[in-house]
Amino acid sequence: MELVNIRQLIDPQRCFEAVRQLRWPNGVRCSHCDSDQVNRNGRDESQAHRQRYICKACNRSFDDLTDTIFEGHHKPLEVWILCLYFMGLNLSNSQIGQELDLPESEVQGMTKQLREGVVKKPIPQLNEEVEVDEIYVVAGHKGHPEVVAQKGREGRKRRLKGRRGRGTMEGEKPPIVGFVQRCGEVAMFVCDNVQRSIIRPLFEKVVARGSKVFHDDYGIYDDLEKWGYEHKTVCHSAGEYARDEDKDGFFEVHVNTIEGIWSLLRSWLRPHRGISQELLHLYVGFFEFVYNCHRRGKKLLSSLIEILVNPESYQPETR
Ligand SMILES: [Zn+2]
Repeated sequence: MELVNIRQLIDPQRCFEAVRQLRWPNGVRCSHCDSDQVNRNGRDESQAHRQRYICKACNRSFDDLTDTIFEGHHKPLEVWILCLYFMGLNLSNSQIGQELDLPESEVQGMTKQLREGVVKKPIPQLNEEVEVDEIYVVAGHKGHPEVVAQKGREGRKRRLKGRRGRGTMEGEKPPIVGFVQRCGEVAMFVCDNVQRSIIRPLFEKVVARGSKVFHDDYGIYDDLEKWGYEHKTVCHSAGEYARDEDKDGFFEVHVNTIEGIWSLLRSWLRPHRGISQELLHLYVGFFEFVYNCHRRGKKLLSSLIEILVNPESYQPETR
């Protein structure tokens, strides 16, 4: 006997209402010409709660899901919403498959599309005090045997052992570079390697000139002054973890914020065993969104739907 069938517990009508509300907070607008002169025009034939509209300005028709990520699937909207909810709870594809009675391969396709939608969010813009750091995660070519073949060897059966030196994408240990504004948002990038030619454009993309940047004593950050930033180094190699440079009793020179976030990220990635490097940026981008959102569970779900159906109006919660 099945005790819980979550697909029967979720109300399809409410799912459509939520999408409408988040997509058009100020009333329905035409998905073609953005006019607000629209009339209702009956319901979808296969999905009873899916409202159709006709635009009085351009005379074209559309419905609740037109031009959204939820359009054009044979699975009903509520299954996609449940999938998104479980992703927010950080369930793996196989766990989601079990909860939704779907094969893992189908869930894989759904979560990939949803993650791709979420990571199109605007790139965070950081200023004031910003910490930067990098970590390396093991990521091979799971699910991409053609790449493994190209590399001229058999697919590996076990995790790569830790290598000496800095990881690279080529070495299947790609770096993730992270920036966090203290008391603010985080921005993360999966990179091929951490050469300065790769790091500098990231700084320009996310960190405002004149910001004060805190980092460890890894040489890639040596040119920060030339790039237009004030910066402070914490000398990890000398066993230092925080320094009170202005002698006011606060140990302000540190990268503890980003290091805390790395440990959250590692825990977040753990249930998704063997993420391939082709997909790693989607998982990291999704984590970034969740972290910046400061919401969990049901509340996070609304933000996830909003970023998917109305990315222009989405605003992260401020602390
Ligand atoms: Zn129109």
